[in-house]
Amino acid sequence: MTECGVFNDEGCIYVADSREEAEAEAAKERAADDGYYADLISVHEMCPDHRDEEQPKDGCEECATGGDEDFGPSLGDYAKASLIIQSLIPGIRR
Ligand SMILES: [Zn+2]
Repeated sequence: MTECGVFNDEGCIYVADSREEAEAEAAKERAADDGYYADLISVHEMCPDHRDEEQPKDGCEECATGGDEDFGPSLGDYAKASLIIQSLIPGIRR
């Protein structure tokens, strides 16, 4: 089950248990908005870690501001790790 939220220009206005339900709610909102704000209404998957804060998975503000260490290695970490691994491989160092 993927939770999806309906978002407008001010943030999350509705959270649904499925994308279908969210799309249906978004369609209702678009119809109610008389076209002008309809373009601002969109459906996004909710961030699994911060659905309570009504954050979308893409561009979650909580994840962006949270500690980096909790969210897996970055590209830089992989580069560092590969250097370390290379230095540990027997035979490479003379
Ligand atoms: Zn998040």
